[in-house]
Amino acid sequence: MAQVQADRDLAVVIGLEVHVQLETDTKIFCGCSTGASEEPNTNTCPVCLGLPGALPVLNEGAVEAAVKVGKAIDASIPERTRFHRKNYYYPDLPKNFQISQYDAPICQDGELEFAVEGERRTVGIERAHLEEDPGSLKHKGGSIDTAEYTLVDYNRAGTPLLEVVTEPDFRDAGEVRSFLAKLEEVLEYLGVFDAERDGSLRVDANLSVVDGEEVGPDGEIDDATLEAANRTEVKNISSHKAAEKALSYEAQRQKNAIERGRAVEQETRHWDESRGITVSMRSKEEEKDYRYFREADLPPLEVADWKERIEIPELPDARRERFREEYGLGEEAADKLTSTKQVADFFEDVAAAFDADLAATWVADNLLGELNYRDMAVTDVDDRLDEIQRLVELVATDEITAKNARETVLRSMLDDGRHPDTVVEEEGLGKTSGDEVQAAVEAAIEDNPDAVADYHDGEEGALNFLVGQVMQATGGSADPGDVNQLLREELES
Ligand code: ADP
Ligand code: ZN
Ligand code: MG
Repeated sequence: MAQVQADRDLAVVIGLEVHVQLETDTKIFCGCSTGASEEPNTNTCPVCLGLPGALPVLNEGAVEAAVKVGKAIDASIPERTRFHRKNYYYPDLPKNFQISQYDAPICQDGELEFAVEGERRTVGIERAHLEEDPGSLKHKGGSIDTAEYTLVDYNRAGTPLLEVVTEPDFRDAGEVRSFLAKLEEVLEYLGVFDAERDGSLRVDANLSVVDGEEVGPDGEIDDATLEAANRTEVKNISSHKAAEKALSYEAQRQKNAIERGRAVEQETRHWDESRGITVSMRSKEEEKDYRYFREADLPPLEVADWKERIEIPELPDARRERFREEYGLGEEAADKLTSTKQVADFFEDVAAAFDADLAATWVADNLLGELNYRDMAVTDVDDRLDEIQRLVELVATDEITAKNARETVLRSMLDDGRHPDTVVEEEGLGKTSGDEVQAAVEAAIEDNPDAVADYHDGEEGALNFLVGQVMQATGGSADPGDVNQLLREELES
């Protein structure tokens, strides 16, 4: 294999294999639940345990989800798709083969556009195919290479996976992070994915370093160069943050090796999150090692008419554009309000009930701001959206001040779980009418001639005293700024 010269400019090349768990109630080839279970090896049956004679039955929901993803990434979906057996021995794979797809994957030749530091980038998606998830291994007393022993749990075995394989189009680790965030966003919009679920997105990343002169003006690199480059496959990456860290590390490791005149071994490496390094695992398998052959227990699947029948919702980019036009939102607000489908749906509900400006302030600034401050997401309050809408209503109908709504009611709703009406009532936040405040101002002046005289002698403290009197008289429900203003006007007149 070609080795890059140490004294040249070096360029990084990255391609991804992203394993996405598709959200279905049951597993891809049996009726076992995909739900979380505390007890290991309870969501299992002869099919997902690979017992002799057990036959797989394809889950329609998994195919539907894959077709949705295919449409969202502009992939071509063939007339018919079929399954293969990928043979390898690993303790989390009870059949010693994985049912996967080989020469007729459900999606081919797609692409995904994303933004990285304000620039639009498009990455090609070579294919996306359906397969079954293996079980999970629990390494006891260490990580994969240091554990004393390992336990296996087959609850996860048979969860539907879509493996999304990108072209080697990434040129640095930051692009990978932005791409993965965008992919998750699209998957969530499609309703086929749950980012909160542990291990729902797992990435294997291929990384090589090539001579900078091989990179064309638009970042393109010819196939022969890509083919010839020695690359490593980094496994065990489970978030966009981890992807950026692992690939920055791996890029630097390869560059260092080249600069010291050493060869980059073609191998599989494991990302050790706690140590922040990649470690060598084994030499990389090649395709022929897997002895792919047709899965005779599953007939080929005609998907031509599924493609026609299955519809997908408006996707984040389109929705962002529409929000800007329809509601006159700025770029930042539109980005925030379309960050997840749930946020976008909630914003549109509030905008329809009141008005777009109020909805934008309340959802993008107040709600997301307070949630963010508490390290929470909208998913943490999704059963209380009607309460938040009630809070906006209290502001819209002028029953409480915006300041109280934001600083007292919303915070108390999030911190103590109280209903907005309860907070308003218990804290006495109901807005006192203008007349009442005016009357209290006049009474305070009349009842406190000494303070009035002090005020006219230039003592600022006297005004504060009078404000205090009015606040007391109105039970704290008047706006102190307004009271201050009214008192000054009254005293100067
Ligand atoms: P394999 O034969 O190892 O399965 P593929 O051509 O199917 O190789 O590609 C697997 C992954 O490796 C893809 O995500 C692809 O983008 C990536 N890849 C291919 N060439 C390179 C390279 N030179 N550097 C980094 N990644 C690459
Ligand atoms: Zn099962
Ligand atoms: Mg391959």
